[in-house]
Amino acid sequence: MTDAKAEGFKNVTDAKAGGFKNVTDAKAERFENVLNYFRQNVPDAASELRYADPYQLTVAVILSAQCTDKRVNAVTPDFFALYPDAETLARASAPEIGEAIRSISYPNNKAKHLSGMARMLVGEFDGRVPDSREALQQLPGVGRKTANVILSVAFGKPAMAVDTHVFRVAARTGLSENSKTPEDTERQLVEHIPEGDIPRAHHWLILHGRYVCTARKPKCGECGISEYCLHYQELSKTKQSKAKQNKTITNMNAKHSRL
Ligand code: SF4
Repeated sequence: MTDAKAEGFKNVTDAKAGGFKNVTDAKAERFENVLNYFRQNVPDAASELRYADPYQLTVAVILSAQCTDKRVNAVTPDFFALYPDAETLARASAPEIGEAIRSISYPNNKAKHLSGMARMLVGEFDGRVPDSREALQQLPGVGRKTANVILSVAFGKPAMAVDTHVFRVAARTGLSENSKTPEDTERQLVEHIPEGDIPRAHHWLILHGRYVCTARKPKCGECGISEYCLHYQELSKTKQSKAKQNKTITNMNAKHSRL
């Protein structure tokens, strides 16, 4: 076991040794357990989007809004052959770009965003993708979530992008509490996840939400973090209480049938 892993376990053990835990301790312990699980089992989590540089990543992330990474990856090789950098993309018209991405959801809107994004990169950023959130959010089609993905994936910065998967997994597990907005979930996650883990944690939560903790039917039986998950703990309590109720009813019925 590495020192880092041993340290992770030590934190958990220390928290347990503390006897009664307050809410803050319990939350810290939940984070530590969940992060340790992913550190050990998915150490190399990465984006499923294919890209070669920050420009390609920015295009791919804009295309991936309400579209699968698989579909985006099917389109981007031809797209990048046509438009290998911000300069070539800036020279294309929105209808030309729309034609190149017609099999992606919302092609017309996304074409307008890509065109505006490329023109701004050329006009104001020397054709390069900037590495600050403020500058990124000026680009058409780039909101806080997309900016965080670019900061974290392209530049390795500790930015947590909260998409629908991250929002759902954080809420179900109890990593976030009473969060009504992606910004609130982002704040709670960033507060508890060590900076060095934030870029990987973004992928851990997205991939977990995509393949295990799915929206309609979470696969709790196959989930490696179920013992630390608030939703699962509540589910188990409900099952236990129903089983207890059923047992009581069965006993009462048996008693009545003997009278
Ligand atoms: S136990 Fe179920 S609800 Fe909790 S994280 Fe795993 S799949 Fe999601």
